[in-house]
Amino acid sequence: MPIDVRPRVSSKHVPVKDSTLDPSRITQEDLTVRRLAGRRYLNPELAQKDDVATLGCFKNEVEYVMYDPRPQKNITSTFPMSMNRFVMELASARANVHFNPANTTIGIVTCGGLCPGLNDVIRSITLTAIRTYGVKRVIGFRYGYWGLSAAGRDTAQELTTETVRYIHRYGGTMLGSSRGPQPASEIVDTLEKLGVNILFTVGGDGTQKGSIRIAEEARRRNLDVAVLGIPKTIDNDLSFSHRTFGFETAVEQACVAIRAAHSEASSHMFGIGIVKVMGRESGFIAAQSTISSSQASLCFIPENPVSREVVLNLIKRRFELSTYCVIVVAEGFGQDWADCSGAPTDASGNKKLMDIGVEMKHLVEGFLKKNKALYPQSTVKYIDPSYTIRACAPNASDAAFCTNLSTLAVHEAMSGATDCIISMRYNQFILVPIKAAVSIRKMVDTRGMLWRMVREVTIDLSNDAASAQKRELQRELQTVSVKRESIINALSKL
Ligand code: ATP
Ligand code: MG
Repeated sequence: MPIDVRPRVSSKHVPVKDSTLDPSRITQEDLTVRRLAGRRYLNPELAQKDDVATLGCFKNEVEYVMYDPRPQKNITSTFPMSMNRFVMELASARANVHFNPANTTIGIVTCGGLCPGLNDVIRSITLTAIRTYGVKRVIGFRYGYWGLSAAGRDTAQELTTETVRYIHRYGGTMLGSSRGPQPASEIVDTLEKLGVNILFTVGGDGTQKGSIRIAEEARRRNLDVAVLGIPKTIDNDLSFSHRTFGFETAVEQACVAIRAAHSEASSHMFGIGIVKVMGRESGFIAAQSTISSSQASLCFIPENPVSREVVLNLIKRRFELSTYCVIVVAEGFGQDWADCSGAPTDASGNKKLMDIGVEMKHLVEGFLKKNKALYPQSTVKYIDPSYTIRACAPNASDAAFCTNLSTLAVHEAMSGATDCIISMRYNQFILVPIKAAVSIRKMVDTRGMLWRMVREVTIDLSNDAASAQKRELQRELQTVSVKRESIINALSKL
């Protein structure tokens, strides 16, 4: 009988509302990457090298990795598990490529919110395209899809080894970004006018839905164009993927903020520190930074909605055990606290969230004021590090990850892979058709390993404060007894 009979998964998957694909009916065909027909050109890197080790890296045949390598038994998660017999295509450099490198023009566009690593992605795509393939041109489109529209296309910028040389040292995106719809017809007009053969779209779910439209329009016009997405989600909420760039950096930065909140809170009697982190639908940053910092007393994520009353009860419980409390809250938590039906949207149609950090601060301040006699000298410090996190340069691990993702993306796009994104699953770089990738969102499974760890390092209403204190005192007493024994022993020998 295994000790732990809970499911071993740490995330679950939910369908995305406006998806055109029903996730419960995904087939192997939906996971098969579209590839432009014909690979007439020898990979230029291969032409220059003849050592066996290098040759082995260039594969024409597609290799696969199991979608889920675990035996089916005991897997109890929501849907993609029902397809765990499926395989995903491994990304690789190909010996023969579809596009003639010397005649190939590559375009890059970055859309949506900022994320650490965007410049690294732009740089690696450019350098691989120029140095490895010797492509004709690399063009950077300014300010998101606007830069590909009729109004924006004249702002397109030539990318060279010189222009991208140092950009990885900085956060943000050298190309700029934007939100808001642009007609796919105008975007494809731009691709035609500039002779772009491959478009790399670096962005989130919205950007990738846009990529599908662009690829479809290009096909309708019989253009030989590949569109390949580099998924950008700091929240790490991409399905079929275990890691997205910027997430690790975000957790690291969130831990810095939690540390500060901890110092502030613990330095005051009944001090409360609140840190709001990113996570619109999925609380991975909040959960992971709570575990990593081990300094948060409470963690609130959208997947585990609780009422204001429960939040206050948890704070009371914390104050039975300690004189300070650190709260980590994901931005998507508590959206059910207010009627958000008429909430405004951004230019892309994404709902603007209520600022739960500010809401939580007011809630806690009101509670402390009402209970002044119980919690004298109380204080609340609120930290919102969101922009500091989004806008910083990636850490070393994310920087390397961006380089690997982007380099492989160029290899695959040159070989004709299209309508897909590149991602990482079980430490393997894979390609996923965009339609499948945007049909499901990855969320924290509150019955899974990750959330269980969060619960272990934070306060739970089911924690019995009195018995926890009793256990702690008993442990202390035992330590004192051992020490006493050893002193008596030492004395007896004198
Ligand atoms: P993030 O969520 O991280 O901010 P995102 O890529 O989702 O990134 P959005 O602003 O939603 O950011 O979308 C980026 C671009 O993609 C915008 O120009 C938007 O108009 C376009 N876009 C969004 N959804 C669609 C869609 N369903 N079809 C076509 N284009 C879309
Ligand atoms: Mg989005």
